[in-house]
Amino acid sequence: MDRSQPITYFISEGSPRSGFKAEDRTLAEWALQAWGRQTNPPVDMVPGPEESATIRVYWVEAGGGLYGEMRGRVVNGRLAADVFVHPDTESLGPDIAQRARLDPLFRDTVVYLTCVHELGHAFGLPHTSAFADIMYSFQFGGDFVDYFMRFREQLQDWDDIERASPFSEADEGTFRALYP
Ligand SMILES: [Zn+2]
Repeated sequence: MDRSQPITYFISEGSPRSGFKAEDRTLAEWALQAWGRQTNPPVDMVPGPEESATIRVYWVEAGGGLYGEMRGRVVNGRLAADVFVHPDTESLGPDIAQRARLDPLFRDTVVYLTCVHELGHAFGLPHTSAFADIMYSFQFGGDFVDYFMRFREQLQDWDDIERASPFSEADEGTFRALYP
């Protein structure tokens, strides 16, 4: 992604039908800043209008157990990305759904890490086959609950989501290689 100008972002509101909660916009913003902080100085990111924002985040009703999706686009000749997040943990299989029902911070962890992962794609990071990576693809199998629990276990309160790291060393290294 072009860094000659600040990256602009737009985070939409979601409909209650999508399972969206008002705080989810903050989770998406924290996910963006978490990636940005991987470089020194941080990648410059500012809110922008929906029409022209480089990265846009939308909350959509889930389908087929999908957590989220990234779609590339071009705006004014520059690469841009739309990220779609499915915040309804009820639709992500019984293991995730049940744990999310019992533990609101687990539910928020799923939404947050989905944002981090899909925004990783927006920044140009590909999937990996290493379970420790946020960019790991579930297509390689493994325990979905463990993937989320290793982050959830770092949290006491909701505010800790901003402070805890969702990344492996490999995730951080890949991001820094893309944004030297
Ligand atoms: Zn992915």
